[in-house]
Amino acid sequence: MKENLYGYTLEGLQNLVLSLGYKKYNGEQILRWLYQSQVTDIDQMSNLSLELREKLKEKYEIFIPKIEKKQISSDGTIKYLLRLSDGNLVETVLMRYIYGNAVCVSSQVGCNMGCSFCASGLLKKIRDLTANEMTSEVMVVQHDLNKTNERVSHVVIMGIGEPFDNYDNVMQFIYCINEAKGLAIGARHISVSTSGLVPKIRQISNEKLQINLAISLHAPNDLIRNKIMKVNQAYNMQELKDALVEYCNKTNRRLTFEYILLKGINDSSENALELIQYLNGLCCYVNLIPYNAVNESPYQRSDEKNINIFYNLLKKYKINVTIRREFGKDIEAACGQLRAKSEGNKI
Ligand code: SF4
Repeated sequence: MKENLYGYTLEGLQNLVLSLGYKKYNGEQILRWLYQSQVTDIDQMSNLSLELREKLKEKYEIFIPKIEKKQISSDGTIKYLLRLSDGNLVETVLMRYIYGNAVCVSSQVGCNMGCSFCASGLLKKIRDLTANEMTSEVMVVQHDLNKTNERVSHVVIMGIGEPFDNYDNVMQFIYCINEAKGLAIGARHISVSTSGLVPKIRQISNEKLQINLAISLHAPNDLIRNKIMKVNQAYNMQELKDALVEYCNKTNRRLTFEYILLKGINDSSENALELIQYLNGLCCYVNLIPYNAVNESPYQRSDEKNINIFYNLLKKYKINVTIRREFGKDIEAACGQLRAKSEGNKI
């Protein structure tokens, strides 16, 4: 089976051509063809010698996943169900903001973290995605946007999977899309979201990248978090906070906390006050997310009134907070819902 040419950094492509007996500058040419000219066939790389193209074709290809299903919301959000080369399905979402087009990328096929409110967790992890597969998720969307002369400006690694459970591939993917002569997605336009794998938070503190780190917190104390997020049984909230303080001190970056409001579980005024206390000392921003109920889930969406009380309490204590704009309300908006539905049909 041939290897996909996507997912390499400039240095990676330079090493690849050197290993084939060619010149280092051919690596940069390939990078530009893939991400600037966005060719879909090695034969289109017209400034490479015929001999190099033939050599490349022996081992490599440009593989773009097949769009199995595409749902377009009235707000412009597009959800893609993509079929990978081995037949597995992943979800990728295009979200449109005033400031640009953000692609939400999946990092694994399924997820093992078992967060009880999450549609993705309904289907266990089958395998990690490689850097080339995550890059090809972005390229599917970019090829679609080419039709309207638009570009992907932001990437968020918040789709199906726990990115830090696939750390090396995710980092290679980030370095690849950040390449100045490639897709050139600025580091500050790249966000990665973790459920709280403490050792990996410490590891990413040492990367020389100004990316955004988001924490899926979803609870104000260990009692609630242990119930809804299994990861908390391995790394409790104090351990998480210690790692985050270290991250902030090393990177000087502001954190984002994601907090899904679940009716009667984590949405009371007391919960808001506990959360405020937990965030004390952290330079952060809180994203409150109204829950998208899925059929299989025991949870319900918080009442509008409770959402507002929660929000106003955080505001009162000078926490930077927003209620997340809902994308794709009229399509299967919850992460993993589309894939769970498709795979569910087969079960
Ligand atoms: S919320 Fe994220 S980490 Fe938790 S099960 Fe879903 S995909 Fe996995």
